[in-house]
Amino acid sequence: MRPEVLNPLFAETETLDGVGPKLKKPLERLGLSRLRDIDYHLPERFVTRRAVENLDDAGEGEQIVVKLTVMEHRASRSPRAPYRVLAQDTLGNVLALTYFGRASYSAKKQLPEGETRWVAGKLERFGDTLQIVHPDHVVAKGSETLQRLCEPVYRLSEGLTQPRVAGLVEQALSRSPDLPEWIEPTQIDKAGWPSWREALTLAHKSENGPARDRLAYDELLANSLALMLVRADNRKRKGQPLRGDGTYRGKLELPFPLTGAQTRSIAEIEGDMAQDAPMLRLLQGDVGAGKTVVALEAMLIAVEAGAQAALLAPTELLARQHYETLRRMAAPTGAEVVLFTGRDKGKARESILMGLLDGSIDIVVGTHAIFQDAVAYKNLGMVVIDEQHRFGVGQRLMLASKGRHAPHVLAMTATPIPRTLTLAQYGELDVSKLDELPPGRQAIDTVVMGQAKIAALVDRLAAQLAEGRQAYWVCPMVREMDGPEEIAAAEARYAALKDRFGEDVVMVHGQLAPELKDAAMERFARGDAKMLVATTVIEVGVDVPNATLMVIEQAERFGLAQLHQLRGRVGRGSEKSFCVLLHGETLSETAQKRLALMRESQDGFYLAEEDLRLRGGGELLGTRQSGDTAFNVANLEQITELLPKAHDDARLLMDRDGGLDGKRGAAARVLLYLFERDYGVKTLRGG
Ligand code: ADP
Ligand code: MG
Repeated sequence: MRPEVLNPLFAETETLDGVGPKLKKPLERLGLSRLRDIDYHLPERFVTRRAVENLDDAGEGEQIVVKLTVMEHRASRSPRAPYRVLAQDTLGNVLALTYFGRASYSAKKQLPEGETRWVAGKLERFGDTLQIVHPDHVVAKGSETLQRLCEPVYRLSEGLTQPRVAGLVEQALSRSPDLPEWIEPTQIDKAGWPSWREALTLAHKSENGPARDRLAYDELLANSLALMLVRADNRKRKGQPLRGDGTYRGKLELPFPLTGAQTRSIAEIEGDMAQDAPMLRLLQGDVGAGKTVVALEAMLIAVEAGAQAALLAPTELLARQHYETLRRMAAPTGAEVVLFTGRDKGKARESILMGLLDGSIDIVVGTHAIFQDAVAYKNLGMVVIDEQHRFGVGQRLMLASKGRHAPHVLAMTATPIPRTLTLAQYGELDVSKLDELPPGRQAIDTVVMGQAKIAALVDRLAAQLAEGRQAYWVCPMVREMDGPEEIAAAEARYAALKDRFGEDVVMVHGQLAPELKDAAMERFARGDAKMLVATTVIEVGVDVPNATLMVIEQAERFGLAQLHQLRGRVGRGSEKSFCVLLHGETLSETAQKRLALMRESQDGFYLAEEDLRLRGGGELLGTRQSGDTAFNVANLEQITELLPKAHDDARLLMDRDGGLDGKRGAAARVLLYLFERDYGVKTLRGG
């Protein structure tokens, strides 16, 4: 049960003044559904503005506040062109206020011709004209907000404005209670950290190092503690030693010899599985390094020892692909492999459930559906988690583990996360590395070009497709998951390419009916379709060796790790492969550097490090990096700096306070619930 003191923080955002169904949507797009989320929606940065009278006195790129008289509205001629409002300062210098897309609605309302307005924003030059793109504020009087020297800048989604979010934050903070202190007092004193509530207030006001650090530390502490609790619980349950006799593995007919790295990893896994203690091992290997066959060997060990194995994939698409591959590879061994997803209904579902219960199914491949309560195994001995570097999965899995024994767990990832991050995400675990690609792989040529050259690109593609090649076309990413904007972009591109290539083009995206998605994938995999238009759902795992071309639109919006993953979809066969990174008109310096890195290197580990380095430089600092780390508050620097301390602190709590009894223990429970790591608490029950 959640401690009562936290109730106000878990109230829905709709309980805030001014939040109705209309505002709820854009808030949810940012992941803000409760007051605590708003509290933790920390500013991305702060701006300091200067009030100027004469635009000639202001520098390019400067954040300014200026009093303007509105002269004229110029509607955009095409949907792509911006909407402009011309205005002049008191000395007659002309400035354009520029709006893209739907933002022009607010321009029409806020800037009546002939009136005077105070406008705040970043001064830029576009050709000969001065301009401010999407001003931060437009007000009739030189209001207080504009005069304030330092103002937070929040991440927004369409439908939200800075003042709106700032107002909600203020409300949420005023309704937030004081919470008991869960951090070791000596640590608080040494670092000079404010209390939880004060830290939040300060972090929204200005760049306050200690306040931000404290909030980050809270998150890290919650995480470490939850991991330790789960681990402690897991240790109490025994695993089962699984020793294979090689009968199944001996019958495999692999078309290639294993690489040294694969052989080594399999030996490491085999060693772990023979132990009483449940294995917790991470298999790291770049895209295409050959993780699947390692997983298969590991699962066959379990089967040889009379147990069952499960492979958990993050999406249905991937589950299906894995199933096809594994079934094909495992066929000569006689192991029974099935696919189980949430989609299975009726008889088919019943028969799988029966097979898992009576042990006639040896290996099940599926989505999280394979761990539903309704699914019972005869003896699940081994679980493989594919491409799932999100937090908590491994832990939850250990908890949800079925049967008398905790299963051995192998997590596989192509994201070469640094050691600190694996510690943070999985706790203490062992790592096997596939640091060697199978022989004969050709380098992928990577080309970076502006979106404007798209017509020429399509011509070149046409020539390639005519020669029997296949191509992926990945549409821009707006958010991490497929949202309406991704779908719209993909649909539009699909329509355009279909005009040109007809039935040769198919499309997949996250909101397509599963049957349609499968049908499209199958046509592409069989080679009946030449081009696959997709959102990022194809990011991981898809394996079509004949595909040699990868086009990624608005590549600057993707992280390097993700681009690398996408690029890894090609270069899987013997033919030369190409990757084209298309970018928009204007590129920030960091974006340019990142795309250049993609051109230069094909080493996933190197790219990941560089990505961290470039971003550590500031671009994404302190913002959500949910794809990369398990944390929303703590940034990479803070993780590196504070995680070891938090880890020790958590250990102290566990050892001295016997797992959260006592006063500080009670406070720590509040912390776990605050960060929703409360499954850690649940292990304490009856323990
Ligand atoms: P990953 O999951 O690590 O990205 P896969 O397991 O999908 O990589 O393997 C990529 C491709 O390489 C597959 O087509 C697979 O059959 C092939 N492959 C795996 N191991 C070897 C090997 N030792 N030699 C040659 N090809 C291999
Ligand atoms: Mg894979």
